[in-house]
Amino acid sequence: MSQERVFIALGTDRADPATVFASALHALQAQGAAVVHASRVLTGPHLDEQGRPKPGQPDLHNAVAEIRWPGAPRALLDLALAIERQYGRTRGPGGNRQLDLDILAFGHRQVSVGPLVLPHPRATRRAFVLAPWEEIAPEFRLAGPQSSPGTSVLEHAARWRCLAAQQFLALAASAAPELPARATATRCLTDGEALRDWRSQCAGSVGVVPTMGALHAGHAALVRRAAAECDSVLVTLFVNPLQFGVGEDLGRYPRTLEADLALLGAAGAGAVYLPNTQDLYPEGFGTYVVPEGMDAFEGAVRPGHFRGVATVVAKLLLRTQPTRAYFGQKDAQQLAMIRRLVRDLDLPGEVVPCATVRDADGLALSSRNRYLEPAQRVRAQALPQALEELASAAASGEADAHRLCAGATRRLEEAGLTVDYVALVDALTFEPVGRLDRAVLAVAAARAGSTRLLDNRWIAPGAPVPKVGAR
Ligand code: AMP
Repeated sequence: MSQERVFIALGTDRADPATVFASALHALQAQGAAVVHASRVLTGPHLDEQGRPKPGQPDLHNAVAEIRWPGAPRALLDLALAIERQYGRTRGPGGNRQLDLDILAFGHRQVSVGPLVLPHPRATRRAFVLAPWEEIAPEFRLAGPQSSPGTSVLEHAARWRCLAAQQFLALAASAAPELPARATATRCLTDGEALRDWRSQCAGSVGVVPTMGALHAGHAALVRRAAAECDSVLVTLFVNPLQFGVGEDLGRYPRTLEADLALLGAAGAGAVYLPNTQDLYPEGFGTYVVPEGMDAFEGAVRPGHFRGVATVVAKLLLRTQPTRAYFGQKDAQQLAMIRRLVRDLDLPGEVVPCATVRDADGLALSSRNRYLEPAQRVRAQALPQALEELASAAASGEADAHRLCAGATRRLEEAGLTVDYVALVDALTFEPVGRLDRAVLAVAAARAGSTRLLDNRWIAPGAPVPKVGAR
């Protein structure tokens, strides 16, 4: 399978968009695509050439999916057109919107051959494409000159927000389509010897996804990406006592092994390593990995947490010897720490960051969300909303980090959450940023009752572009 990240826009005006999109993704997978990820469905008015709502037209539903494709872009286009036709789609004047499949980008390739133009020429001037694309791949760079990586989806979205804020505000989100299952038999490896045996039989690349179990669609997205990019996929499942502080939820951390195994098979994991504490930390264990400079944000709220994470991740990478290791952007400070850890200690595996998967209302999926009572669950929505508003304020020209963060903090407090922090930071160093002069991360943590909620969002300054029509 090619490593190139391929993005497809899905559109329909039918009343059951999640079902239509799920079956289109199923049809793509049946013909050899690996489906990695899909955004939520965003619904908005049908716009005319100038970006104005067309009166009397049904709303349009849109989503963006990430896939891998083993063949040429042209073969993928032919397949997309064939799937559209199965849905009764007709293109051209008088055409309908039963199902619209557009290839947005095929890696960083620049293509212009007949009907196939890549990147898609209109993608960067449509809120209904940029908003879902930004959700699943903000850092992906569209092809620049000579197929080099150019401007990121995030930066394109910030520019277009500057000019067409209303188009973004008019979009309402609903659940992402269900992704096609991969039906893999997942082997359970319960000790170091079984792991070594399995690992020694792997030919080709190995993707490793470290988790603490209680798996959800966010974990599944990591596994799907690993399965699309590697010959073998190993998930580690271990509730690591070393990263829990005194009074934290180690004893009641959710353990859902049976459901976890079903999810792993459907996402494409070939094996799951289930070490026990004795196996990883035998009697007399006394050597730890202590990352420096991790005293802010999560490090301040959870003393010793990153020492526990660094120690277990180092051990797991050494034991599993990955070609690539997959981590969620959801835990952005952890991701930054692990990138440095792998580089500093020459640990095996390229660290691959993966976008955050969200519930229909925007809340980032987390194993701990199941602790939330219904009223707290509603209040929790304020966290992604506050970050979204921060992104809009930045796109409209506010560049002062203090003012941007103060606005988000107020928003969270008004919703009844207890704020631990809101900050703009450099994504790699986690150094706070005072002025928004490039793409940075807005990170935030707050509590609903005793449940901690963690989220972050890429933020780019708005940069006006010459005003032209939407097409
Ligand atoms: P955990 O089991 O919570 O330790 O998480 C295991 C991995 O899954 C980490 O790399 C997390 O960052 C990642 N992860 C957790 N939640 C999400 C999410 N909502 N979307 C994507 N990745 C996630």
